[in-house]
Amino acid sequence: MVPEHILEILACPSCKGEVHYIVKDIAYEKESFICTNCKLRFKVIDGIPDFLIETAEKISEEEIKELLKYDYQNSKSKSL
Ligand SMILES: [Zn+2]
Repeated sequence: MVPEHILEILACPSCKGEVHYIVKDIAYEKESFICTNCKLRFKVIDGIPDFLIETAEKISEEEIKELLKYDYQNSKSKSL
């Protein structure tokens, strides 16, 4: 789990836009971050987000739709 104060300062290294924290990435079965602008997935390795464009993975529109179901903000508002 990435601490909330860290989540607030994270941005996509490519477009500097907002990233979504995916609490359970369906393909990778761990946490990840996605940028819906760039369609990139950034993995979280041992709790540390890997925000390198070189190691980011391209994801499809379908994958984004699936992944956003596990968006941290979504899951938080649901549990309230
Ligand atoms: Zn981006």
